[in-house]
Amino acid sequence: MDVNNIVRKVYPKLTPYKCELADLPVEEIKEVLVRETVYKLSFNESPLGPSPKAIQAMQDSLSQLNLYPSSAGDSIMKKIAEIEGVSSKQVILSNGADEMIILIAQTFLEPEDEVIIPKLSFIQYLAATNLMGAKPVFSEMKEDYSYDLEDILSKVTSKTKAIFLCNPNNPTGTSIPKTKLVNFLSKIPDHILVVIDEAYQEYVVSPEFESGVRYLKEHKFLFVVRTFSKAYSLAGARLGYGLGTTEVIEAINHVRPPFNVNAVVQAGALASLEDIEYLQEARALNHQGKELMYEAFEELGLPYLKSDTNFVFVDTQMDSSVIFQKLAEHGVIVRMLKGYGLDTAIRVSVGKKEGVHTFVNVLKEIIR
Ligand SMILES: *Cc1c(COP(=O)(O)O)cnc(C)c1O
Repeated sequence: MDVNNIVRKVYPKLTPYKCELADLPVEEIKEVLVRETVYKLSFNESPLGPSPKAIQAMQDSLSQLNLYPSSAGDSIMKKIAEIEGVSSKQVILSNGADEMIILIAQTFLEPEDEVIIPKLSFIQYLAATNLMGAKPVFSEMKEDYSYDLEDILSKVTSKTKAIFLCNPNNPTGTSIPKTKLVNFLSKIPDHILVVIDEAYQEYVVSPEFESGVRYLKEHKFLFVVRTFSKAYSLAGARLGYGLGTTEVIEAINHVRPPFNVNAVVQAGALASLEDIEYLQEARALNHQGKELMYEAFEELGLPYLKSDTNFVFVDTQMDSSVIFQKLAEHGVIVRMLKGYGLDTAIRVSVGKKEGVHTFVNVLKEIIR
């Protein structure tokens, strides 16, 4: 009798988090590469530390750690509701957006359900679908790597329970124009749950983008996922949130563990939301970094996608393992996309200025 005899049936489809070089904590990458300076541009982490106001609030919260946190996270929920123009009953917190994706799956997915997932998108939608034993149905991407919304519509069947969209999309960085999103939502049958992951929403520059939050009134089963991990630089503290109709939020609350969000991050996130200048600075720095990369890609004639996020998708037109290796030799770690069947494309996070400069300079050396 071994453990394989007692785990759930879905077990063979689940994989532990991989730990290749690009996935290691930066301190471990430094050890592996035997380098003092490493630019980890594979995780879409913010190069800024958290807002100083958030750090202060988190420090102030430490002496109260003998107490359980607020279960629902009332103060932060209220603040989010105020910003988004919804009721606080339409907000729910999670231990990172990753947990929110799992909570959605646990609340709604049965093994007989089909879940439509774009082929080139965030991997956790598939992981959560597999966890519940539901059936993933992949939608094709267009040639320009954008979502083929018509293809998604054509894959809706009587078994479709949910559709996952990532907007702006990881790993392409592009977003769905508002007119297309509106048209798409209007064609989706009412009983289907549409989950829009807006993890990078704070970085959007395209005037064509619109948050799914604007359409919660029209679509009872629309649900928007957000995070404090990216633009708010709180990835290590873990806070995600969801916005939906009260009905959907109440359903997920049946599944949510009572104290899933710690007191420290609740304090830090609240202070972050109040620090408007910080977000402006993060956006400005991100914008400068992206411009530097765009310039280099144009100079090198490499196809890339204009990004609404804090990373850029570029086709290096060479085997990405070669590019990865050479960049790593100079302490720059990027994300290969071979798992998606893309052998030459990479995803590069906008790091600190020095990181972006080093990436651009080494890339120029390699390509020339
Ligand atoms: C980073 C990321 C998340 C995960 O965010 P956490 O809040 O850190 O769990 C979710 N969705 C997308 C698309 C992401 O890129």
